[in-house]
Amino acid sequence: TSQEDWARSDNYHNSFLLPQDQILDDVLKNSIDKGLPEIAVSAAQGKFLNLLARSVQAKRILEVGTLGGYSAIWLARALPEDGELITLEYNEHNAKVAQENIDRAGLSGKVKIIVGKGHESMLKLTPNPPFDLVFIDADKPNNINYFTEGKRLVRKGGIIIVDNVVRYARVADPEYTSPNVEGVRTLLKALKDDAEVDATTIATVGEKGYDGFLYAIRK
Ligand code: SAM
Repeated sequence: TSQEDWARSDNYHNSFLLPQDQILDDVLKNSIDKGLPEIAVSAAQGKFLNLLARSVQAKRILEVGTLGGYSAIWLARALPEDGELITLEYNEHNAKVAQENIDRAGLSGKVKIIVGKGHESMLKLTPNPPFDLVFIDADKPNNINYFTEGKRLVRKGGIIIVDNVVRYARVADPEYTSPNVEGVRTLLKALKDDAEVDATTIATVGEKGYDGFLYAIRK
């Protein structure tokens, strides 16, 4: 099965489950026009994040890795009127494009972008009130740091999701030793003895290729 087949598969399912969305189309186009790489979550994954946030009735969401704000928009749409999403981004240009996109989506009242190194920004955040959901999707070598801070900031029963933990099965292949792959392995090793969370990896396939999410609940 080729990448084209998986893209067609995503499109097929989306045609029943995800209504046409001019705002998200504009957001993706603006991100491409401004030179951002096409590494946002897919539409189906964005919708999945939105559904997860609604499942836990999230009022406060933290994201690490904004890019153009695509996943932030999906997540922020799950929030109630008085909800808040804080998203952390290192690259100033990405953050600027994300702000344009969040404005376009009418979500500037709910979404706050903090520009800086994700880990440093996280250290300054407090769990008062705590977050209901943390989505980690930035530089993979820092996964362990983001996860550790995520645990401190999320409420009991809250969710921590880490993107790109399968990477075409390379995480499980000893031939691969890139910092991104090692970043996932370090997190997995830490989770083996971590009594504070319960977690599983769900591998996915679609228009973005073969990858997966780690889904954890704070105990
Ligand atoms: N979550 C986004 C989405 O699905 O729309 C995609 C995020 S993209 C995969 C990763 C982002 O993390 C990039 O915008 C990159 O600039 C940012 N990033 C890289 N290193 C970072 C760091 N140390 N702190 C915060 N953000 C970082």
